[in-house]
Amino acid sequence: MSAIDLHARPSKEYDQKLAETQQLLIRAAAEFSPLTQANSLGAEDTVITHLINSLELDISVFVLETGMLHPETLQLLDRLRATSRAPVRVFQPLNESVIEFVGREGKDAMYRSVALRKDCCHIRKVEPLQRALEGQRAWITGLRREQSAARAEVPLVDTSEPRTKFNPLANWTWGDVWHYIAQNQVDYHPLHDQFYPSIGCAPCTRAISLGEDFRAGRWWWEDEAAKECGLHVKTNEGVAA
Ligand code: SF4
Repeated sequence: MSAIDLHARPSKEYDQKLAETQQLLIRAAAEFSPLTQANSLGAEDTVITHLINSLELDISVFVLETGMLHPETLQLLDRLRATSRAPVRVFQPLNESVIEFVGREGKDAMYRSVALRKDCCHIRKVEPLQRALEGQRAWITGLRREQSAARAEVPLVDTSEPRTKFNPLANWTWGDVWHYIAQNQVDYHPLHDQFYPSIGCAPCTRAISLGEDFRAGRWWWEDEAAKECGLHVKTNEGVAA
């Protein structure tokens, strides 16, 4: 059974939410240039890139290629680069930082402590994110309130940081996301058909079982409270860390 068969159930406000999302993206592109979308190649981000392309908006897309992604993710990235109207920029971690960290702590360091896992995320995600956002007035993410308790208050437009962040799917349900994918025949990540609702780096992502939380397959060996990669965590300085 595919993810579409399992999940594509629109909420009754779906048409209104879709129209509002389109309007928000159009307004964001008009008022915040240059504007860029963070695409992790999961279902939500795939929907947003599809909307950017179908609305022909002047918004670039970027992908953080951490060096630890599943082969299926890299194949989807190749297909996206080949078909996207919007430019797709790919950011990789600094080679010397990876070599130094892996040489010192080993390639499985993320399992030994939360601190080492966060160090790995910093090198492979947070620092490349900072480069991806350089010179951008605002950015777009696929965060949804339903994804976790930590994301329950995600606003559609977040102005609490120096760089405005748009979360156009904040109020979409998982059923809405999959309804859009089904209706528009969007090319989606094949691991979604193998019970991976949330997809990240290969060593840190597993399939979930029926009844498990949406993000239970991410850093599953850690406490719930520690489970963010740092891309959307606010610090006292107000920047991602
Ligand atoms: Fe490293 Fe895992 Fe973070 Fe990817 S998700 S950067 S492999 S700790």
